Amino acid sequence: MISKLPNVGTTIFSVMSALAAEHKALNVGQGFPSFPIDEAWSELMKKHIHQGYNQYAPMPGVPILREELATKIKNTIGVSINPNTEITVTAGATQAIFTAITALIHPGDEVVLFAPAYDCYAPAIELCGGVPVWINLHYPNYSVNWDQVQSAITDKTKMIIVNHPNNPAGTVFNKDDFDQLNRIAEANNLFVISDEVYEHIIFDNHPHLSALQFPYLRENTIATYSFGKTFHMTGWKLGYAVGSEKLMNEFRKVHQFNVFSVNTPAQYAVAEYLKDASHYLNIPNFYQEKRNLFLSELKNPNLEITPASGTYFQLINYSKIDQRSDTEVAIDWTKKYGITTIPCSVFYPDKLDEKVLRVCFAKDDETIKQAAEILNSIQ
Ligand code: PMP
Ligand code: GLN
Repeated sequence: MISKLPNVGTTIFSVMSALAAEHKALNVGQGFPSFPIDEAWSELMKKHIHQGYNQYAPMPGVPILREELATKIKNTIGVSINPNTEITVTAGATQAIFTAITALIHPGDEVVLFAPAYDCYAPAIELCGGVPVWINLHYPNYSVNWDQVQSAITDKTKMIIVNHPNNPAGTVFNKDDFDQLNRIAEANNLFVISDEVYEHIIFDNHPHLSALQFPYLRENTIATYSFGKTFHMTGWKLGYAVGSEKLMNEFRKVHQFNVFSVNTPAQYAVAEYLKDASHYLNIPNFYQEKRNLFLSELKNPNLEITPASGTYFQLINYSKIDQRSDTEVAIDWTKKYGITTIPCSVFYPDKLDEKVLRVCFAKDDETIKQAAEILNSIQ
């Protein structure tokens, strides 16, 4: 058999979680919350199951959820979205991203993307016969040189993929970044996927900027979101994609054949939960307190930290205490100290090793303190 993804193995998240379980290590690697979800969810799910919402949802998502989402988008980023034609509810952001890439990328098309990158973009491009064109960003600020982006564009370039707030870097784009992205995408007639799953996990009073707020991008971007991230329920696998009607038409042609529609009672439950805006407006504070707790407890002077500006990941540079590769260190610390992190080299196509590990602080306070204590003990 000729593999369609010859260089792809099991994702690092599964690999490190399995290693953590094997060695009974504290798992601050894979990004998922360790605390319970709001108790309201079980009542909401029960209610909608009892009301009989148990058959296929409409292909683009239940109308009431799309309407609530349009209201949320208007309230948070001030953009008017048509809930009928410009939003599709998906089985998490992963499916939204896969569907968007499949809908827009033809064999031979080049897609510019930035490393470190979340792991699902490049395989989806390759499965479509597209060609990932990578630009490496660097620790500690991972800033984008937009002239370099312009130089990476050829007559085959079809798309740029951005992720802000960024997993794993913990960085956010500012207005200038989006202005440049808007300018370059427009000048070269490109589509954009803007992966904004951490839209509400953003700190220090940064407002969340969305690609949808910029005029060319508004028409030519598919932005992707995840309720798993926003409401601490990664296992529900529920998200949505937003884009102009011309893009959403193509998106839905693919969506209807790779999933058709997603969990009906959960869609009704989310629609009802969204009616109270405090449920998402309080998320930045909630996670900022967790980040601050982790940073205040982490007192190892030999671990270098630049506080994350967004996402629930904090990067740690260990180069003052260990010169081994980040993968070796992540495996060794799991076995020796009982703490599992994610080595950042896995997010680079060339496995660039800047001696940086990613720690997930979407954890109960005890786990956060325990993680800091273990890290403090490493010399
Ligand atoms: N994009 C990024 C940047 C992510 O970190 C994740 C998941 N952690 C996803 C997409 C996928 O989201 P979902 O779990 O909703 O598929
Ligand atoms: N997005 C999560 C992370 O970055 C993991 C998701 C997954 O396991 N596929 O850790």
